[in-house]
Amino acid sequence: MKIGFLGLGQMGAGMAANLLRAGHEVVVWNRSPEKSQPLVAEGAVLARTPREAAAGRDVVMSMLADDAALEQVVLGSDGVLEGLRRGALHISSSTIAVATADRLADLHEERGLRFLSAPVFGRPEAAAAAKLFIVAAGAQSDYTAASALFPALSQKAFYIGAKPSAANLVKLCGNFMILAAIETFAEAMTLAQKGGVPKKQFLEVMTGTLFDTPAYRNYGAALAEDRFRPAGFAAPLGLKDMRLAGQSAETLRVPMPVLNVLRDHLLQAIGAEGEDIDWSAIGHIVAKNGGL
Ligand code: NAP
Repeated sequence: MKIGFLGLGQMGAGMAANLLRAGHEVVVWNRSPEKSQPLVAEGAVLARTPREAAAGRDVVMSMLADDAALEQVVLGSDGVLEGLRRGALHISSSTIAVATADRLADLHEERGLRFLSAPVFGRPEAAAAAKLFIVAAGAQSDYTAASALFPALSQKAFYIGAKPSAANLVKLCGNFMILAAIETFAEAMTLAQKGGVPKKQFLEVMTGTLFDTPAYRNYGAALAEDRFRPAGFAAPLGLKDMRLAGQSAETLRVPMPVLNVLRDHLLQAIGAEGEDIDWSAIGHIVAKNGGL
């Protein structure tokens, strides 16, 4: 396939490289062009604007930081919408608000373009290893078309339904659950540690019994090792996701008291430790609050 790929951050760089290695023809664009050099060395073509990356492509895929970045790249004067030909497909993998996905889906439809939301679960290591989980929504035929690319990116893809933003809602719910798992693990680990149980021993028992899942295994290890830098998922992006989950909770009238605790702990972690900390650094705040 001829693919335009927009956004070569921690996630996008690995995804674009895997598409390239799977034999697709990939044109890449990134706001900071130097990040495209390793991909160009592997055979990707460098576009100077999002519009150029989209021109003549069957498919564009975007993996940008947040709603504002995606809107700029898609709707800007040299944006994706200016470049795509009628009938082309935009696969949007950024974690964005439900309302933004709805708006973008409408804007694509008005122009005869197709829009599939396909946010992902998995950290940069999973992106590089093609082990992501993709949660997609949009027209069934668009999902089928996009599915030709998914084996190069993921271990599994899920189809949620015809409304693209449903996938974004599921993604936000998932990130809320991951951070809640980090929070409860950190609280329990702090309690155990203060009572004299070493963190690594606690981790071994929990992940060796009832909590043997990737979220607990990976983040539990980070908590046990106090390993919050370099950030795989930066805390400001996590804060963005808690804000977006909160917006949906407000819209749909669903009280989520735990969400407020998570948001506050993220703010505390960023305020105390800086913007470059991983979102699991809420564990550091929990431990400090517990007097450790
Ligand atoms: P990242 O490393 O910070 O990369 C962000 C990308 O967005 C970069 O390409 C950056 O360009 C670009 N960008 C930011 N602001 C922009 C703007 N105003 N205009 C144009 N481009 C802009 O983030 P990431 O970790 O790859 O995450 C990307 C998306 O995936 C986010 O929505 C995140 O929530 C989601 N996600 C992340 C993870 C994870 O573990 N990291 C997992 C699942 C989903 P520059 O290179 O020029 O800064």
